[in-house]
Amino acid sequence: MAASILDGKQLASRIRQAVTAEVAALANAGRTPKLAAVLATDDPGAHLYASSQKKACATVGIDFELITASPASSQAELLALVDRLNADRTVTGIMIYVPLPAGVDQMALQSRVVPGKDVEATGPTSLGLLVHRKATLLPSTPAAAVELAKLSGVPMEGARVVVIGRSVVVGRPLSLMLVDAHCTVTVCHTRTRDLPAVARQADFLFVAAGKPRIVTAEFIKPGAVVVDVGINQVTEKGPDGKEVTRTVGDVDPSAAELARFITPVPGGVGPVTVAMLLRNIVTAAKMQA
Ligand code: NAD
Repeated sequence: MAASILDGKQLASRIRQAVTAEVAALANAGRTPKLAAVLATDDPGAHLYASSQKKACATVGIDFELITASPASSQAELLALVDRLNADRTVTGIMIYVPLPAGVDQMALQSRVVPGKDVEATGPTSLGLLVHRKATLLPSTPAAAVELAKLSGVPMEGARVVVIGRSVVVGRPLSLMLVDAHCTVTVCHTRTRDLPAVARQADFLFVAAGKPRIVTAEFIKPGAVVVDVGINQVTEKGPDGKEVTRTVGDVDPSAAELARFITPVPGGVGPVTVAMLLRNIVTAAKMQA
């Protein structure tokens, strides 16, 4: 039997509705939240990301200010810019797009954002608070992955969970959040031996490897919940023999034959991630008030 879809678009729309109401209440009190986004690159992907975030903010009534800096900016210049945004009381959250100019240390810049404005929640203080179970702002992508898993209705407490990927933005924080949800968590990576056998133990399988369709049916325990975080662009021949570029996840469609629930790509973790960022901006605004 084919897996049921965990619909990220629907979930994102529900979260955005709640966020819109909260933003309206804040605006009525004269405290419209604002995201300040720093773009110091010519990279077209980063520009696209910035414009999609601008649109997302607009849909819920959050102000968005794009601060473009030269791709030749020095670390000192960007640190000074972050300092200015930290001190600006009209700025609720700060977003820094990558790639950064050559020679600029991402960690140094991210660490400079005051924790209350770190709406991406991937700075060292935010992640430290997560370790200490004191986080108010959660990193958007792992939070989105957990929310989608919960949508399945399958109890997470005590469940065996496998996370494929150990990056700072996805795999690591996700594994901590799952431990906090009382799951028994195994984290896999490029050095994991017999990955399919480990993955097959999972009641919940989270995949954030950034490798198109690596997770096939042989990775899936029958009845598992599969959350695909991957976003990959692949160019391949369509049915008419012409090359097409499409967005695919890390999970192969064959996994859906054994899984009970699965997230689609696109339309799964992606839209919920955006909604989670918007929710973080509102949470930050409330904390600052
Ligand atoms: P990353 O490259 O920083 O980390 C990938 C991790 O996967 C590494 O820890 C690596 O050890 C592991 N890995 C890679 N290949 C593997 C393999 N063959 N077997 C086992 N482990 C393997 O990537 P990331 O930033 O964590 O992103 C992962 C994926 O999630 C990417 O496709 C990215 O585009 C996507 N992503 C999606 C969202 C979203 O909003 N949906 C947000 C962030 C990232």
